[in-house]
Order: sequence, then structure tokens, then C-alpha cells
Amino acid sequence: MNNKVVIIGCGNVGMSYAYALLNQRTYVNKLVLIDLDEKRLEGEVMDLNHCLSYAPSKISINKGTYSDCSDAKIVVIAAGVNQKEGETRLNLLERNASIFKNIIDNVKNSGFNGIFLIATNPVDIMTYITYKYSNFPSNKVIGTGTSLDTARLQLMIGKKLCINPKNVQGYVMGEHGDSEFIPWSNANISLQNIKEFFSEEELKVIEHDVKNAAYEIIERKGATYYGIGMALVRITNAILGNENLIMPLSVLDKERDMYIGRPCIIGIEGIRDIKLNLTDEENFKYERSINILKEEIKNLQM
Ligand code: NAD
Repeated sequence: MNNKVVIIGCGNVGMSYAYALLNQRTYVNKLVLIDLDEKRLEGEVMDLNHCLSYAPSKISINKGTYSDCSDAKIVVIAAGVNQKEGETRLNLLERNASIFKNIIDNVKNSGFNGIFLIATNPVDIMTYITYKYSNFPSNKVIGTGTSLDTARLQLMIGKKLCINPKNVQGYVMGEHGDSEFIPWSNANISLQNIKEFFSEEELKVIEHDVKNAAYEIIERKGATYYGIGMALVRITNAILGNENLIMPLSVLDKERDMYIGRPCIIGIEGIRDIKLNLTDEENFKYERSINILKEEIKNLQM
């Protein structure tokens, strides 16, 4: 069985993903790494290979070129610059957009026919750009969206209620960025809505802390990468295991022609949409996020 994954951009995020994959039972059996910095990449490949004696899965790990994408099931893109202290994710747009055209062209020219999975920020726009440049069907172009933010939300609520974060059924939606929001009307613990457990004030504080978690980490250690590495592994295994798992990812809102974080069903064919059932206020926040993202791409040459 060929379950090859190619990672393009093997800095903090790309390597956290690769290392997290190695540490879990995964469907991936071939991992190919591509980066501009070839010397460092050689070191990364050597170092990762030295994990294999103690790894739970057997994976071949090699440095590669774009021709390796031809028979890959998933191409993960984490290439580009990350946020510096005080920068928003949208500040990265111009720099990261300029490197994506070349990357997508190279992947396409290999004959790749699998699923694009994008982590580079601003992730909703970078996923939209990938969709436009690649001409792939939208179900096969996915961004990590608000998956990491949702993990942060589940952790915070799980801790406060002393329950497993996996049992928190709620999502962060919208832009993976400052305009993201939590549709509390759809957030439940078992059979009860979350508003049964927290006051409006407490929910506001949780939403604020989720939204600002990345800034807090960047202020202390300069970048975030372990969380997104694990989110990428969860998405990868959901795809290759055809799990039909519900996750919040950056997917195309066809009506508005924009990628945005919303829950969807993820499996071997990529994503399937889920109908949203939001209150008027939540719909307003969703539209606001869409408008912010659309405003940002207006000036991009595509
Ligand atoms: P990094 O600087 O550590 O790594 C980026 C890597 O990309 C470098 O190794 C660089 O050599 C490589 N690269 C640059 N241009 C390339 C090209 N044209 N082809 C191949 N490789 C190229 O940065 P990082 O911390 O790994 O962050 C990567 C991206 O992930 C950033 O945009 C960051 O904001 C984003 N990120 C996203 C999330 C999320 O939730 N989606 C979370 C954290 C970080």
C-alpha cells in the first residue's frame, strides 16, 4: 500500500508534524520532506530516521523533490514565514502568497492527484490561493483552519469542568485569526448546552483566551508549532483512514467564494460540507470574518 505524504516547508511546523506522525500509529508509510534549506533538511531526515527503532509505525523517511508528489496521497504545505511578536497572521499574506505560486505549480506539474493540506498562515487565504492556483476540486484542498483553536477551546473547557477535552462538543469558527468566534449555541457537554455551565462573562473570557493563545505563546517562545503538528496528524489519519470525522477546517464556502473555518466531514475523498445552524448574531460574526478575508485578497495578484 502506498500512503505517501510529502511535506513542503520543514521548519518548526513541518518538523513538529513529522515528529508527531512518527510517534503515533499512523497510516502513513512514506514520508518525503522538501525545503529550500537543503543542508538543514538533510540533518532533519537523518535525525528523524534515528527514531525508527523506537517508533510504533514503520515509515520510510527521505529528502525529496517535487517529482515525489506524483503518487502522494497528501501534500502538506507549511512553507513560509511565521508571525513575529506583534504581527497578526494577515500581516504574513504578501510574503507567503509570493512563494505559493511556485510551490503549487511544481506540485501540479508532478501529476499530483491527492489532497492539498495547508498550514501556512494566513491559512484561510493560503488555502484559497492553493485552490485557485491548482484548479483542484474544492473537496481536495483543505486548510487547518480553526482546528488548533478548537483544540485550545476544548482544553480550556475540559480543565474548568474537569472532563476529557474530547468530550467538549464545540468549535471555533471563522478566520483562523482575530475575527474568529465560537458559536456557543452549538456548543454542548454531553446533552447540555455549554451556557448551562458558564455565565456570559465567563464565556467571553474563554473566547478571548482562545483567540489570543497564539500571541501568548509567541510572546514567550517566539512561535507555535506542537499544537498544529498534532492537528495535522489528526487530519492526516482521518483522511487516510477514511474516518469521516467531523472537524473544523478551512473549507470553501461556495456561495461566498472564500475559504473559512467551519465544521466539515473529512475522509479519503477530502471534505464534505455540513449545513450550519447559527443564530443571527453568530451569522453576523461569520459574515464579518468572510468580509475581512475577502478584503485582504482584493489586492492580491492571482
Ligand atoms: P519556519 O520559518 O520555522 O519554517 C518555514 C520553512 O519554510 C523554512 O524551513 C523555510 O526554509 C521553508 N520555506 C520557505 N520558502 C520555501 C519554499 N519556497 N519552498 C520550500 N520551503 C520553503 O516557520 P514555521 O514556524 O514552521 O511556520 C510555518 C508556517 O506555519 C507559518 O506561516 C506559520 O504562521 C504557520 N503556522 C500555522 C499554524 C496554524 O494553525 N495553521 C500554526 C502555527 C504556525
